[in-house]
Amino acid sequence: MKDEMPNLPKTLSFKMPAEASPLGYRVKPKKTLLSVERLRKSFAKGESAAVERVSIDLGEGEMLALLGPSGCGKTTTLRMIGGFETPDEGRITLRGRDITHLPPEARGIGFVFQDYALFPHLNVLDNVKFGLRKLPRAQAESRARDMLALVGLEALGARKPHELSGGQQQRVALARTLAVAPPLVLLDEPFSNLDAAMRVETRQEVRKLLKEAGSAAILVTHDQEEAMAVADRIAVMEKGRVLQIGTPDEIYRNPVSAFVASFMGRSNILTGTASGMEVKTEFGTLPLSRAANGAVSLSVRPEQIMLEPDPEGPASVVGREFRGHDQLYWVQEGERCMLVISGAGAMIDVGARVRLRICDCVVPLS
Ligand code: ATP
Repeated sequence: MKDEMPNLPKTLSFKMPAEASPLGYRVKPKKTLLSVERLRKSFAKGESAAVERVSIDLGEGEMLALLGPSGCGKTTTLRMIGGFETPDEGRITLRGRDITHLPPEARGIGFVFQDYALFPHLNVLDNVKFGLRKLPRAQAESRARDMLALVGLEALGARKPHELSGGQQQRVALARTLAVAPPLVLLDEPFSNLDAAMRVETRQEVRKLLKEAGSAAILVTHDQEEAMAVADRIAVMEKGRVLQIGTPDEIYRNPVSAFVASFMGRSNILTGTASGMEVKTEFGTLPLSRAANGAVSLSVRPEQIMLEPDPEGPASVVGREFRGHDQLYWVQEGERCMLVISGAGAMIDVGARVRLRICDCVVPLS
């Protein structure tokens, strides 16, 4: 759950209001900071493009995650925005200024690299001061100390980077980037060098710091949980293209394709015949989250399925994973194996006969 909106209830309906999500994330950016229009990049003639027709609008202060599997073009997109790679086609504007062909240092964009890229011979304070060389010395010193205080490391200014933990190094890198108050910060897999517990803690800190500094950010990740945890919106990419952009819950609840449904969490893909807001399936006639007609593929989340023990039931439990707060079941019905998540109530044994009931709107996929 994000820092600025604790204790919000989870809604039960899977239908999305048009303008705002039930969890209250901002759907449309208030004021556009960055516009990326139809970017294309190919590294080798005759090969398919690494990035193809990617268009993204980012609002002032907004955090966007570029999410997708390895090799889908996330880093190349980020590097084109940062000026480290030249697009073959397309246009990038920042606050209305065309920056497509400007060198990185002329764009006014901050970049936090995967390995933090701290100078090993400089102490923490001097690392942060590095980007402030144009300021008078006293002013640079004061600004750098303020930034270290912002990231909670004011006591460690005299240490060298190797004397810090991974999470602390990450915060120094962020302090150095934020010191020059960039309107936009680009982060390439910024948490990949941290262990699991540190990742969770650090990603919330980084989000908080960026929000406090008022900087927008684009974060590259292949971890859907990370994207959902930190981003206001997510752009899901596959094979160089953006398949869907939306708030985390919008994408989770209304994925446009089987790929998005399966990449953003787990999903069962069914088929059916749709007619408006209903669809006929092997599980009966079900409500749809959006209108569709004719033969459709459908996404059903594991938590949308109820498992009822029934000795006469047509399905049987073939696998179970105990997860503490809930349980994950694999249930075989005929040729089909369905994933079901059920609350931490009475456990159903592997081998038990059951009946499956879908208890919510299902999502038609394109
Ligand atoms: P990962 O999560 O593994 O970093 P990614 O989604 O960031 O992957 P990119 O690094 O953008 O993907 O790569 C997209 C495609 O472009 C890949 O097929 C990659 O091999 C190719 N590619 C990236 N950089 C270069 C390069 N400098 N020269 C040639 N091919 C490249």
